[in-house]
Amino acid sequence: MFSFTSIENYHSFLATNPDGCTTAIKYYLSQIEKHADLNAFLEVFADEALLKAKALDEKRNSGQPTGKLHGVVVALKDIISYKDHRLSASSKILEDFRAIYNATVVDRLLAEDAIIIGRNNCDEFAMGSTNENSAFGNVLNPISRSRVPGGSSGGSAVAVSANLCMISLGSDTGGSVRQPADFCGIIGLKPTYGRVSRFGLIAYGSSFDQIGIFAKTIPDVALTLQVIGGHDRFDNTTSKRIQPDYQLVEENSAKKLKIGYFKDAFFHQSLDEEIGVRLRSFIESLGEDGFLVEPIDFEYLDYIVPAYYVLTTAEASSNLSRFDGVRYGYRDHKNGLSLREFYKKTRSTGFGKEVKRRILLGTFVLSTGYYDAYFAKAQQVRKMLIDKTELIFNDLDVIILPTSPSTAFAIGEKTNDPIAMYLADIYTVYANLTGIPAISLPLFQHSNGMPFGIQAMTSRFKELSLLQFSQQIIRQYKSYENPTL
Ligand code: GLN
Repeated sequence: MFSFTSIENYHSFLATNPDGCTTAIKYYLSQIEKHADLNAFLEVFADEALLKAKALDEKRNSGQPTGKLHGVVVALKDIISYKDHRLSASSKILEDFRAIYNATVVDRLLAEDAIIIGRNNCDEFAMGSTNENSAFGNVLNPISRSRVPGGSSGGSAVAVSANLCMISLGSDTGGSVRQPADFCGIIGLKPTYGRVSRFGLIAYGSSFDQIGIFAKTIPDVALTLQVIGGHDRFDNTTSKRIQPDYQLVEENSAKKLKIGYFKDAFFHQSLDEEIGVRLRSFIESLGEDGFLVEPIDFEYLDYIVPAYYVLTTAEASSNLSRFDGVRYGYRDHKNGLSLREFYKKTRSTGFGKEVKRRILLGTFVLSTGYYDAYFAKAQQVRKMLIDKTELIFNDLDVIILPTSPSTAFAIGEKTNDPIAMYLADIYTVYANLTGIPAISLPLFQHSNGMPFGIQAMTSRFKELSLLQFSQQIIRQYKSYENPTL
């Protein structure tokens, strides 16, 4: 039977299996069917993926050169445009909308022979931490079906975790790749802001959004980043720097890196006790094993979630104004409605509760009279954080933090308490406020059976160091094993 461990091993398998891509697609289609209850996919491109697999098998067998992601089976969060395919952002307001162009990441995946198998469920417009805000139903955590997979890229995390595809792409505005990766026991990378093009990604908070990668191994993350990253003339916020060769992830230079950790974060009242104990002992063993580890005084921990929610809702209120019933998808149109009533009706019934809450919040913090007290203040906090981060990275190479204060929540646990839900983002939003790259590594298992790990960060555009560090940490400390599903 087909089994996937890494892209490299898959490519060796293809070298001796003329029907290898087809075998892989058939396996994933059957896995998706077997685990349909997880609700990870909003749509599966079964026929198309099979045809593509056959074409790739022929291409390889005829001796033509193959792409870096030849036959790699990829799933996309349903917020990334794939031309002529539906694109809903898990929202009723875009239910029947079809993408009219490819996101740059999609073009780059396809140019390297990847096969896109389907689009993944997520929180509506990427707003949420549990996937419970999807207009198309909850996604279940494959490790324990009574728990959430995390969010907002819940379906994409589950797709990799439950072996429904090899890798997947999500988006991370405040943790939406790292947190669901943590809840589902896989790796999640948010690259530096400006590393990966956002062209074709539906915008939530444009100065925070970044497309991220879910995978089971660091070399797979590295190869995917190599393919999707780099300058794009369609997104002026992308960096013109040439990407390093991420294949150097195996180089064992992590011991020379200086690691810092925010002391307060590992003792914070919100942190699950068992996770706190385990992570503090992990930090101790890093020191004992020859890493240079230093505590950092970081006095801003309690300001980062409020600053994040003020700024992202402000940006969202502006970004989502385009969904007015005229230009895209769903409209609530009855004869006799005035234009104003038409907009109001469309937006009131088209958007879900959380999205409406955020549009209102964002409009409020931007309104005259409150702008200085909220929006301008939050921008000042962001600037302070960026300055502080620069100072930290003058001395240190890596910062480590928990990824989430707890393991995956039970379904419904936080649904009626948005503030509690927002506060659980305490460890992830920092990297988005400052634009630095961050990765979540699934290292340990909680006594409740669920995975948890650590989050590592470097200064901007140092993804190669981050991946090298991650590879060494995983090699040396990972005890969590994904269950076979
Ligand atoms: N949980 C955060 C939020 O709800 C993160 C979302 C994201 O990264 N897209 O905003």
